[in-house]
Amino acid sequence: MNRNHDFHRGKLGAFCAAFTLSFAMKFAPVNAVPSTTTASAAPNDADVAAVMPASAFAPAPNRVYTTTGLELIDHPIDTKCYGDRDATASVEYIMLHFCSDVIENPSNPFNVDRIYGIFTFAGVSAHYLIDRDGNIHKMVDESKRAFHAGNGNIDWAPQVKGQMNQNSIGIEMTAVGSPKDMKIFMSETKYNDFKTSYPQHIGFTDAQYKSLARLISDIRRRNPKIPFDRYHIIGHSEWAPSRRSDPGELFDYSRIGLPKNRPGGPTTSTAESAGTSASAEKPKPSWNFFAHYDNRLAKIAEDLNALPATTTSTVVILGDSITEGNPLKTVIGMPVINMGISGDQIDIPTTATGGVLRRVALVPKARPTDIFLLIGINDFGAGKSVADAETQYRALVKKLRELAPTAKLHLQSILPTTGRHAYLLEKVNAMNPKIQAIAKEFGCDYVDLFSIMKNDKGELREDYTGDGLHLKQPANNAWVTAIEAHLKKQ
Ligand SMILES: [Zn+2]
Repeated sequence: MNRNHDFHRGKLGAFCAAFTLSFAMKFAPVNAVPSTTTASAAPNDADVAAVMPASAFAPAPNRVYTTTGLELIDHPIDTKCYGDRDATASVEYIMLHFCSDVIENPSNPFNVDRIYGIFTFAGVSAHYLIDRDGNIHKMVDESKRAFHAGNGNIDWAPQVKGQMNQNSIGIEMTAVGSPKDMKIFMSETKYNDFKTSYPQHIGFTDAQYKSLARLISDIRRRNPKIPFDRYHIIGHSEWAPSRRSDPGELFDYSRIGLPKNRPGGPTTSTAESAGTSASAEKPKPSWNFFAHYDNRLAKIAEDLNALPATTTSTVVILGDSITEGNPLKTVIGMPVINMGISGDQIDIPTTATGGVLRRVALVPKARPTDIFLLIGINDFGAGKSVADAETQYRALVKKLRELAPTAKLHLQSILPTTGRHAYLLEKVNAMNPKIQAIAKEFGCDYVDLFSIMKNDKGELREDYTGDGLHLKQPANNAWVTAIEAHLKKQ
């Protein structure tokens, strides 16, 4: 098996014509797994029954749990479908794929046993397969080299050329893509017939997104060299744009908290010219949000423990990197507890780590009289809609009011941006009136920092920022003046 082994879809289209029902039966035994602790019903029983006689059933796969508590189905694929990783290989990428049995079985294209059979026949694999119900099948151990990426390159990391399998974890999701995605597998007529008959099979399911977000979080805890960004969490089509279209146009990166495109990069999906699809901008230095988040939580806990028992009034500043970067230690005689964490969002749905909403229980421990909240820019950086941000923001404010009912809550408008972050302004401008309305709804104070920080173009003042988003000291000073004014106002 050479390392360039690569799935599927193009090949699948070619060899699938020869596949028959006997194929699935022949390969079903690869699903046999060692019996371990907890057994459960085989997933997709009904679907399997639709195409295979009961005698072809594989034994029920076993549910197992990762060290961080994620439930998987232990479902190893045949050993011929993967190899060893080089001892020196550094796992820094996650590659996303889609797969299906649509050519042969358009009425039932996501039967996991058949897909295992197809992979086994072709001698390929991924580490994980997420089925339509969100079950995560563990195909190949992360310590092994799954054959999922094939030949390709990414021009922001030329050293990885042709070696992606050595350096990555592959995740398959059962799905059928857009007409453009599927052009390499089926005719337009066949696609249209399929779409008319089985519209539910197009695209990805909510359960898949939810499981994928959890799985990525889980993988990154074991593989901390995989940064949470679009340079390292990529689609197969970004690696091999001339051959591959998956996970395709219908895959929504914002559902896993990532932008569709790399910062400054062109659109990526199914770019036709190999090697030109990547951003000219250099990748950001590796920065592990989860590690930083954990470190900051530990530091915040330390600060809270260090508060003298006699302290009954503090000011909490709560938010992301902008708050984290504010050096304010005391304000009008009160200690300031900085609860900013770089990279954080209002809420990160479905993942286990991150989101201010997940950590607000720490706020009352500071015994605050005043809480200044500034959050939302990373949500938009990650592609979140204003409507979703508003829903999550309201939930956050509601929870803060419940947890710290005697503290005065100051909702600060999201700051303007400029330069390469100026594209976020549209959402910021749409969001701030909603924050103001939420302030009114919950009887909170609204602090219009946006107006203080903007220039006459409505962007962040050039003298206030270096990178177009974060604040320099003069801006922090202006911010502190605003905080003082709002504290004295009451
Ligand atoms: Zn693929």
